[in-house]
Amino acid sequence: MKYDYLIVGSGLFGAVFAHEAASKGKKCLVIDKRNNIAGNIYTAEEHGINVHKYGAHIFHTSDRKVWDYVNEFAEFNNFINAPVAKYGDELYNLPFNMNTFSKMWGIQTPEEARKIIDEQKKDGFKENPENLEEQAISLVGKDIYEKLIKGYTQKQWGRKCTELPAFIIKRLPVRFTFDNNYFNDRYQGIPVGGYTKLVENMLKGIDVKLGVTYKDFIAGTDDTFDKVIYTGPVDEYFDFRLGTLEYRSLRFEEEYMPDCDNFQGNAAVNYTSADVPYTRIIEHKHFEFGKGDGTVITREYPSEWKPGDEPYYPVNNDRNNSLYEQYKALADEEKNVIFGGRLGVYKYFDMDKVIASALETAEKELA
Ligand SMILES: Cc1cc2nc3c(=O)[nH]c(=O)nc-3n(C[C@H](O)[C@H](O)[C@H](O)COP(=O)(O)OP(=O)(O)OC[C@H]3O[C@@H](n4cnc5c(N)ncnc54)[C@H](O)[C@@H]3O)c2cc1C
Repeated sequence: MKYDYLIVGSGLFGAVFAHEAASKGKKCLVIDKRNNIAGNIYTAEEHGINVHKYGAHIFHTSDRKVWDYVNEFAEFNNFINAPVAKYGDELYNLPFNMNTFSKMWGIQTPEEARKIIDEQKKDGFKENPENLEEQAISLVGKDIYEKLIKGYTQKQWGRKCTELPAFIIKRLPVRFTFDNNYFNDRYQGIPVGGYTKLVENMLKGIDVKLGVTYKDFIAGTDDTFDKVIYTGPVDEYFDFRLGTLEYRSLRFEEEYMPDCDNFQGNAAVNYTSADVPYTRIIEHKHFEFGKGDGTVITREYPSEWKPGDEPYYPVNNDRNNSLYEQYKALADEEKNVIFGGRLGVYKYFDMDKVIASALETAEKELA
């Protein structure tokens, strides 16, 4: 078979590009090393509940073009992300807002909250914060840092906040309104029926081959391709010849509770004490307002990453950024390969940004 495009990876970047190319009459083949489509936004229906298998995903954007685009493939519900933080046996609303402050200090007005935060910021103020702890206290004061940031961040990065660089948190949004909506974006929601259906709709009518890696596929196929869209790890494409780009990884522990209808009353509860080993528990049924039999929860454990593990978050420190630049120079020389998506360009993207980037690539490529 002769194809115009081989698309490596059936995540959002690959699926959007494939859809755009196919709609312009191009013949595409999408392959993926996993046995399912949709990459990290893959959801599987279990007991009538759409379970987010690679971490909880909430779609949010202020980009009207992207919002209209995703709505062509799925109907979105009106889920609003309003996580709760659990510190010991205390529960706090997130993001940091008047509900959080009222619970923490027993105060009622924005003025009272502002006064406490300003005083605590002044106490801990450092002109040039030398680590994440100093930076966080300078931004939000000691109480919020101690209860809601310190343990959580330590678990996320596997290091004490005093050993982490200050630049990791440039800003910590603090809201002086009673508003628990985590995102400031104009549009937000979860695709009804799960993300896998959304990607299935994007890939309708397009050839898809699952359970095969790029290298194995290329070695064993007689098909031909004019171009490759590559959304796997850029260093792996070049056989790690310059070294390995590093990631933080995650381990998910899923539990089905047939006799429990509602485990925690919210989709996401963050565990902010250092002595609880996981960072959060997701209760999937709440993304779709409680439908399903029993409940499914997932505990999320951040973990060290080593080659072969699932890569989740790029570690954009100086070493990795400069290594990526060297790989990018090699990638630029591959005339018939376009690198895209979070692994192809070694960058964390939210879903809306990855869609925008795939649409832009498609527009340039298919013009
Ligand atoms: C824990 C977590 C939570 C997140 N939550 C949100 C959220 O709430 N909201 C939001 O907007 N964004 C969220 N994101 C970001 C979101 O997951 C990404 O924007 C999106 O999944 C990126 O799509 P992609 O196509 O670039 O990559 P992926 O989805 O990773 O797709 C790449 C695909 O390529 C395949 N592949 C890789 N290498 C090869 C190879 N050699 N051969 C064949 N196939 C290969 C992989 O199997 C994979 O299916 C979250 C990310 C994480 C890690």
